[in-house]
Amino acid sequence: MQVILLGPPGAGKGTQAKMLTEQYGVPQISTGDILRAAVAAGTPLGKEAKTYMDRGALVPDEAVTGIVRDRLTEPDCQAGYLLDGFPRTVAQAEALTRMLKELGTSLPTGVSLDVTEEELIRRLAGRRTCQACGEPFHVEFHPPRVGGICDKCSGNLIQRDDDQEETIRRRLQVYREQTEPLIGYYQRQGLLKTVKGLGDTGDIVCTDIEGPRRVRRSNCRSAVP
Ligand code: AMP
Repeated sequence: MQVILLGPPGAGKGTQAKMLTEQYGVPQISTGDILRAAVAAGTPLGKEAKTYMDRGALVPDEAVTGIVRDRLTEPDCQAGYLLDGFPRTVAQAEALTRMLKELGTSLPTGVSLDVTEEELIRRLAGRRTCQACGEPFHVEFHPPRVGGICDKCSGNLIQRDDDQEETIRRRLQVYREQTEPLIGYYQRQGLLKTVKGLGDTGDIVCTDIEGPRRVRRSNCRSAVP
């Protein structure tokens, strides 16, 4: 299975990625997670990336494409992978196509998650993460038992710098300008599926490469963005 999850920040890519990777046993390649780890480790890449990430801008294509190329050549990607947050620009998509042709592997299916902007802001602004173990929470959809404290390890819950409302609006603008054109890019090649993003009531639609699959919201609760 080779899948690219497409959709604006807050559309539920992380949630869907977690379910799909568990179901298909393929690795999730999240450029956002890789970059955040580089920032936390203070590597040269992390220092450069931070200057873009803090203001909601995209990290330059060459840096991100290099990360993905290195990751795709690792043995665990042989049976497939799920790309979450990459490609983000048409230039990255073209670089990915070239890279996969060089590696002799088939082109991935793009799965586009469709969510309204109002809902995206509500989800992103309420997102909290445990500083110690990374467990995700949401002030409205998945609050911790004790405010500000992780249920799992009692670590402090923090809000990502780029989840502040002003930065969220900037990230959504960047998405519309630079990433949304990818939907047409994959559609024209017959490589796109569009599914409705997560609703705020009832069931969650889990994307499935064979078609949408419904699972009970309670099964997905811990992963709601
Ligand atoms: P995410 O967790 O996917 O929302 O990514 C967080 C931030 O990391 C983005 O706002 C960008 O600054 C950076 N980033 C992640 N993936 C990419 C990418 N493919 N291209 C450029 N910047 C990226």
